Amino acid sequence: MSQINLDNDDFRNHLYNQAKDGKRLWIYPGRIIGQLYTLRTYISYLLLTLLFGLPWVEINGQPIFLFNILERKFIFWTVPFFPQDFHLVALGLVSFLIFISLFTVLFGRIWCGWACPQTIFMEMLFRKIEYWIEGDDKAQRRLNEGPWNNKKIIKKGFKHTLFLILSFAISNTFLMYIIGKADWLKIINENPADHIKGLAAMLIFTGVFYFVFARFRELVCIVVCPYGRLQGVLLDNNSILVQYDHKRGEPRGKISSTVEKGDCIDCHWCVRVCPTGIDIRNGSNQLECIGCTSCIDACDEVMEKIHKPKGLIRYDSFNGVNSRTKLKFTKRIAAYTSVLILIISVLAFMLLTRRNWESTLLRTPGMTYQYDEKTHLVSNLYQLRILNKSMKSQGFQVSLEAPLRLVWVGNQIEQVQPGHMAKGEFFIQARTRAWKQGEKVHVKIINSAGKEESLKTSFIQPDE
Ligand code: SF4
Ligand code: SF4
Repeated sequence: MSQINLDNDDFRNHLYNQAKDGKRLWIYPGRIIGQLYTLRTYISYLLLTLLFGLPWVEINGQPIFLFNILERKFIFWTVPFFPQDFHLVALGLVSFLIFISLFTVLFGRIWCGWACPQTIFMEMLFRKIEYWIEGDDKAQRRLNEGPWNNKKIIKKGFKHTLFLILSFAISNTFLMYIIGKADWLKIINENPADHIKGLAAMLIFTGVFYFVFARFRELVCIVVCPYGRLQGVLLDNNSILVQYDHKRGEPRGKISSTVEKGDCIDCHWCVRVCPTGIDIRNGSNQLECIGCTSCIDACDEVMEKIHKPKGLIRYDSFNGVNSRTKLKFTKRIAAYTSVLILIISVLAFMLLTRRNWESTLLRTPGMTYQYDEKTHLVSNLYQLRILNKSMKSQGFQVSLEAPLRLVWVGNQIEQVQPGHMAKGEFFIQARTRAWKQGEKVHVKIINSAGKEESLKTSFIQPDE
């Protein structure tokens, strides 16, 4: 495996982890300790606990999150969503995209460095296992370049076994978010022959995660992730990013008593710890930078040793580094914020006023009215559908105001199971001249919790 060339200065011509002949250069990030790394570790453990723990938690027998695309069942923060709520989901996604854009304009790739599952799994789980078994970056390189002896076979075997177990755990967790705990437990406990598809999904997911974290690694952020690709259009000179203070650091070079130098001693420690292999001193507008802050910790460690103030690499904006100006509330941020507030307000209103059932009432197509000469009753036939959008069974009462009468044809809609749609047909009847010609009819639906809905429809009768 090729090694990364730390002295490579034509960084704009090819990826850091790619040799000129196109070969992949394996990155061995140095082991880092530092305040930001410690904080990231605590935050990542909290997020991992939530990620692995939430599928096990149920409220009123229902999961907190469920993204069952196959059966079109979605639960978000215990609120169930159905395909009929597509407009809410679309609005939610638009709000989320605008939020991400605004957040990125302000704080760059904070998400990537601090909360993205790819970074957290890679840096806080898989990388730590690798350090634990194979040692630091130098030891890993020696091992990779060394012959396949017993020591190497045992270390590599142990590491990849743990990687597979972890990938299996991650795969099962994601599966639980998709099919829910109950269905996942069935796959685990019941006859494997009855759950071939579930088991296949488990194994495929495990293989994908293993490949991503054992081999593909930083290429996810550099090549695949669409969010990473968007950075170039979202960031501006006031965005807060991991920045190298070139004013303070340059001209870089070894400490000298004869030549005046900047604070950067060109030790390359910031480059060696970088998980994407880049040199932050080439500028903060490098799309490969995932904002992981490792170079901040690394440089602070160096500054401490050479008795210089920390923060040669720090969180700052490009303008902040150049002119010491603080973050400005730009017109772009104001525009994003206004649109975001508007969309979130509409979304909140729609969620708060959302009824947990949805009903449609249609006059039966192709029919006008029936007239009974003996009783002088005029009848119109209607079709009613009620979708229960909650996770509990709901009772319904359908009624009309006098002098109209409602007569069910076949089964009356009374109880609707969660997520199910009940269908029923009924006549609306009135004696001739009892109902004003052309006046709309209001059909009232009340659920078991006492919530009401009024559906308007027309009633056709013979001309007077
Ligand atoms: S760690 Fe700091 S001093 Fe060393 S090369 Fe990087 S910026 Fe310069
Ligand atoms: S340049 Fe620094 S912040 Fe960016 S990815 Fe590399 S180590 Fe992380």
